[in-house]
Order: sequence, then C-alpha cells, then structure tokens
Amino acid sequence: MTEPEITDTAIPPLSVAQENENGRAVPVAGAAVMFDSVTKVYEPGVTALSDVSFVIEKGEFVFVVGASGSGKSTMIRLILKELDPTSGRIIVGGRDLSRLRRSKIPQLRRNVGCVFQDFKLLPNRTAAENVAYALKVQGENQNSIRRKVPEVLSLVGLSHKMNSLPDELSGGEQQRVSIARAFVNHPPLLICDEPTGNLDPDTSVGIMQLLYRINRSGTTILMVTHDREMVDKMRRRVLALSEGKLERDERRGGYVGE
Ligand code: ADP
Ligand code: MG
Repeated sequence: MTEPEITDTAIPPLSVAQENENGRAVPVAGAAVMFDSVTKVYEPGVTALSDVSFVIEKGEFVFVVGASGSGKSTMIRLILKELDPTSGRIIVGGRDLSRLRRSKIPQLRRNVGCVFQDFKLLPNRTAAENVAYALKVQGENQNSIRRKVPEVLSLVGLSHKMNSLPDELSGGEQQRVSIARAFVNHPPLLICDEPTGNLDPDTSVGIMQLLYRINRSGTTILMVTHDREMVDKMRRRVLALSEGKLERDERRGGYVGE
C-alpha cells in the first residue's frame, strides 16, 4: 500500500486540558466538549457509558477508538442530545446540555456537523441539491444557498461533480458530499462516526486529508474510527473506550490493540 501523505509538520500544539487531583477532567472555559462523570444506562444491565470524563479543547483533533459495542456511537448521540445521560454532565460549545431548552436543540445541531459511515445522502438529489437541502432545512435563504453550495463543494474537491447523483459517485466522492453538507455552515465542531468505514485505504487517506484541512481551519474534530493505521499515523489524541469505560486518553498516542 502507498504511504499516506500525512505529515506532522503543520500540526499545531495540542492544548492540555486541566485535571483535578484525581486525574478527572474539570471544566475549562471555552472547551468544545466536556463529559463530566457521564453514565448512560439504556436499560437494566445495558450500561453503554460508565463514569466517562474528558475535556476536548477548541481546535483539537481527537480520535475515539474501541471495540464494537464499547459506547462510541452513544457518546456521539449524547453530544447531539439525541439521548440524555442517566447521570453526569455534558457541555458542548459552552452549553450545559441538561439545561438546554428543547427549542434550542436545532441551534445546537447547527453547531455540530455530522458525518456518518453510510453517508446518508438523499438518493434522488444531486451532490449540489444534497448540500442545498441541508441549508434549506436550516432556514437559509436562496441567495446564500446559491453562494455557499458551490463554495463548499469546491473546498471538498467536487466542483466538477456538482450535478451528479449519489449513485454516479464513488464511495469517496459520496463521503466528500456528506462532509460538504456537514461543513457548509462552518460549524465549530465536526463529529464523524467511522467516516472511512466503507472506503478502501487509499480513498480513506484522501478523506483524512480533507478532515485534517478542515481541522486546521479551526474546526474541532471528534472522529470515531477502527482505522488503526490512520490513528497511528496521525499521532493525535486518542480516547479509547472499553465496555463503556474510558480506558485511555492519550495525547499523542497510537492505536494499541482493540
Ligand atoms: P459502539 O458505537 O461503540 O459500537 P454503541 O454506543 O452503539 O457502541 O453501543 C454501546 C452499548 O449500548 C451496546 O451494548 C449496545 O448494544 C447498547 N445500545 C446501543 N443503543 C441502544 C439502544 N437504543 N437501546 C438499548 N441498548 C443500546
Ligand atoms: Mg457505533
């Protein structure tokens, strides 16, 4: 396999979150995401997350790894307030989600872009229409939609495929459309649940480079992945979940075991 061309040279220094004497994350002004002793029990005997604490600072690129069923997707759904924790506190973009009014949830979700393994594109709409539709749902006016859609599709390298339907695009191209859709309003936080899970290694490298570029523009990225090689290569912070517990939080660690 060809070596992914991801270099360390331009990686900004990682900020160090504060910890109290127990090594537990404490609130940091301006943190992008904070979990403070978060537990999520779906039903008796099914504890998806157990006493998980961490702080992600603005601008960080953080991987979340762990075996299937370890609680990764639950973590993402909690950040989007699709679920509420059984106990503990979650802060996203300075807002305590337990105090967030229902009417403010759409605003939260506008500030958190999401990318998924299966792209979730509308099959009967072109690349441009998929991005435009997301803006329309958010109440954007036609003028700004007309301006923003070509801009973001160019950013992801798809200007020439604007009018293609999803089934006319490769997997990597479809994922670029879905990243364009998630990023079109430049949300401060982008969360990605196995974005390269359906892609071959070379295509995955291209997607990682795109996410890396987005991160360098200042967007915080939280990425769930099974791609061990990529995690090792990027040398970024890794949160490792094991059976719902935060097993490791390594600042520049590699991906060790599963
Ligand atoms: P991962 O994304 O790491 O594979 P999940 O967060 O999806 O893990 O799941 C963690 C645990 O919670 C698993 O045991 C899973 O079966 C359980 N779980 C996930 N979603 C639900 C749900 N809606 N209802 C009940 N149990 C669930
Ligand atoms: Mg999952």
